[in-house]
Amino acid sequence: MIKAVRGMKDLLPPETARWHHIETIARAVFRCYGFQEIRLPLLERTELFTRSIGVNTDIVEKEMYTFPDRHGESLTLRPEATASVVRAFIENRLDQGAEVKKYFTMGPMFRYERPQKGRYRQFHQINAEALGGDAPELDAEMILLLLEILERLQIKNLELVFNSLGCSQCRPAYLLELTALFARGLRDLCDDCQRRSAVNPLRVFDCKSKTCQELLHQVPALSDQLCDDCQRHEQRVLELLDRFGVPYRKNPRLVRGLDYYTRTAFEVITTELGAQDAVAGGGRYNGLIRELGGPDHPAIGFAIGEERLAALLSQQQDPIPARPLLFIAVLGRTALDLAFDLVQAVRRQGYVADMDFADRSLKAQMTMANRRGASQVLIVGDKELAARQAPLKNMQSGQQQMVSIEGPSEILAALGSETEGVYGV
Ligand code: AMP
Repeated sequence: MIKAVRGMKDLLPPETARWHHIETIARAVFRCYGFQEIRLPLLERTELFTRSIGVNTDIVEKEMYTFPDRHGESLTLRPEATASVVRAFIENRLDQGAEVKKYFTMGPMFRYERPQKGRYRQFHQINAEALGGDAPELDAEMILLLLEILERLQIKNLELVFNSLGCSQCRPAYLLELTALFARGLRDLCDDCQRRSAVNPLRVFDCKSKTCQELLHQVPALSDQLCDDCQRHEQRVLELLDRFGVPYRKNPRLVRGLDYYTRTAFEVITTELGAQDAVAGGGRYNGLIRELGGPDHPAIGFAIGEERLAALLSQQQDPIPARPLLFIAVLGRTALDLAFDLVQAVRRQGYVADMDFADRSLKAQMTMANRRGASQVLIVGDKELAARQAPLKNMQSGQQQMVSIEGPSEILAALGSETEGVYGV
């Protein structure tokens, strides 16, 4: 038996209904906030990610699915979406016009991480990116948008964690200080951090090792050393969150795993999922568009992890897949064509209808209708064909009525306005 690749899951019904629900809600909220969908290739040139995410990050050092194509060009399965959105923004000249460009995208990402509950090698994200605006109001709007998606999905026990990562004015001095501090306590850092402390000292904040974490308690926080502009920006974002009644916790150690963030960085975490507690994360990336060869436009974005969102949703409500409102049981080959006509006519009116083509016994077909959760079953055989009438059985009440099978109208009237499964899919 050939099995799926480690860390890559099949998504099966009824779980797919939950995902559909998540994506439907997200789309509805994006629409209200003026975000349009953008769909991007899963494969990009490797350079796109090394240049944007940063060479000395976990993602680029250890987690990318990178391979040469048949012409020897190095390609990578995207580990995240922001770099691709920025690439598409530049390549398609989407920067025309003064307004902020707002895009969302949904789809799989690939990271060669150690699989565990809530962590996969192929996982899915819902991403939102707003390009071309540096107003702190935009940061607040992005956070409000993210929270509204989570709120409309009725996800509880979430916490918004906030930090500012400074800018090209204030961060370099801090990084120098950090490098010097780490150099002094170098022996206490883990091997990975020893190597990184000189080239990318912020990454030490991501380290899970206890000794590294202890050392970090002695270092000053970047958020205490922000330049005036960054301070004002942060204050205004937080003031707006207060104004909209959004609770948050400031965490000066939140750096996020990618190099391109500037100023605002945030995460939404949950107490419900154990170790993999981050449901969504994002931040501002003011230098990235220019870094990748585009205009000097500031931008901000976030990503929601769909597997984690679905796991949270599954604690609340099980999806019920669409139930056929009508199942037609056919007795004998001669009635099959008429039954097929009726099923099609009912489907075309927007109802869920089904039948079986295998010429089974009535008992077998009734069992099938029951298993599918059909509301009504129409039984059509030679006798009904001749009489142009057939019994329609309400599976809940057990009551039966005769309906005309000349056309679908009497059947449709009997189906009435019954509704479908919990998620309506
Ligand atoms: P990141 O791009 O690392 O900030 O991730 C954004 C969100 O994607 C996280 O908050 C998670 O919900 C989700 N995520 C990241 N990596 C994984 C993974 N390996 N498996 C499942 N979800 C993930």
